[in-house]
Amino acid sequence: MARLSRTRMVIIGGGFAGLRVLYRLHNALGRDADIILLDPRSTTLQKPALPDIALTGQAVDRYRHELQPIADRAGARFIQAAVLFIDPVKQRVELSNGRKLPYDYLFITMGIEKNYDVIEGYRKHGYSICDDEEAPRLYQALRQFKGGPVVVGTARTEWSHDVSLPHLDAACEGPMGEVSFMLDHQLRRRNIRDISTISLFTPGREFLDDVGDTVHQVLAERFSARAVQVLPQKNVVCLTDDSVIFSDGTELSSALTIIIPPYGGPAAIKHSGLGDDKGFVATDHAMRHVVYPSIFAAGDVNALSMPKLGHLAIIQADIAAATVIRELTNVGEVPLYKPEIFCIMHERDNEAMLIWSDVMYGGKTDVAFHGISAHLMKWAFDSYYFYAHDHLPADWVHAGLESVLGHVNIHDQA
Ligand SMILES: Cc1cc2nc3c(=O)[nH]c(=O)nc-3n(C[C@H](O)[C@H](O)[C@H](O)COP(=O)(O)OP(=O)(O)OC[C@H]3O[C@@H](n4cnc5c(N)ncnc54)[C@H](O)[C@@H]3O)c2cc1C
Repeated sequence: MARLSRTRMVIIGGGFAGLRVLYRLHNALGRDADIILLDPRSTTLQKPALPDIALTGQAVDRYRHELQPIADRAGARFIQAAVLFIDPVKQRVELSNGRKLPYDYLFITMGIEKNYDVIEGYRKHGYSICDDEEAPRLYQALRQFKGGPVVVGTARTEWSHDVSLPHLDAACEGPMGEVSFMLDHQLRRRNIRDISTISLFTPGREFLDDVGDTVHQVLAERFSARAVQVLPQKNVVCLTDDSVIFSDGTELSSALTIIIPPYGGPAAIKHSGLGDDKGFVATDHAMRHVVYPSIFAAGDVNALSMPKLGHLAIIQADIAAATVIRELTNVGEVPLYKPEIFCIMHERDNEAMLIWSDVMYGGKTDVAFHGISAHLMKWAFDSYYFYAHDHLPADWVHAGLESVLGHVNIHDQA
């Protein structure tokens, strides 16, 4: 274990991917491993709960989890600081507190940046659910809302041309479907649904371009049942106090506008010259940087992560960690990279819709169902990961679904 204790492993970012890498390294290597976790925040944020915070006013603190005890449990050191620069030749990272840290293996799991300011008028007239400042701000706006047209949608994200992946206009739009369903429910509850409309726009050809026909059919039925109007191929450019303006010159009246902004690669990746021309990190299927073998990237920051989903962050983190564990110990198998869409949208009270599809990547799975069981899985996904410190219920939910369903497409469980 002498070699192991001298191997310095640095994880940049304690989100879905970073914590999964931490848990996997710790489980395989034990306390002999020298692991440092870096994050400018003192807490990790349970992002799938953000729609609940924004729509139902759940307390934000419930979904923030302290990183120090998580690192302690995994025998790692936690340093609360941002990485400003990575020097891949000297193999060290430079922190916002002035420190320089050497590494033997570096895991870049720092997520992405959300470019709200690309949308003209966003700061004055727009709302979002994408972080723990925006979600409570939307909740306050909803409390004041007296009815009228609501416009919900995702802005277009630009990707590098170097990445050979199926093209998606929206980085991650599942949460906007969830917001539409939950909003419908909330407005009905407050008896203002009949004086309100909900329009859901997408820059893609369809809402969720990343799934197949079966899921699209189920989604169309659900949106129709909730009188949500879906507007495809709409690229938002500007928000005013009473409208949303798109690049094709069309406008929608809006009394409340909720958007997911364009995603971009982190500034530190751009400064360090480690990303593609949009700042996402290009890796091979072992999640290893295409130029620097001691650097791995997993999660939203990885150019292969398309769309940007927690589920893919976990899959990639497993592969990155397994690759390093095998290199250090000659033990364990490195899983093949088999991307798939797996997401659960909360609809109301104890109803949710589960979507599982890999047709975008050439597979045959295309499943959607809604009901109480999907709600339980959502609850499990949202909370259990952060409390169980390794085991994502999606792992066993998945195994269960596969054994029960095979590749049969089911529509509706409710
Ligand atoms: C509203 C919403 C709902 C969602 N719901 C779901 C869902 O239901 N299911 C699902 O699968 N996915 C969902 N997603 C997507 C999912 O949240 C992301 O794909 C996932 O969080 C990506 O994980 P990550 O570890 O790559 O990045 P993150 O979770 O964003 O973590 C990145 C971490 O890096 C840290 N960091 C940033 N910059 C630096 C720096 N310079 N130095 C050091 N650390 C840094 C950040 O503070 C953060 O802690 C949702 C996303 C949103 C916005």
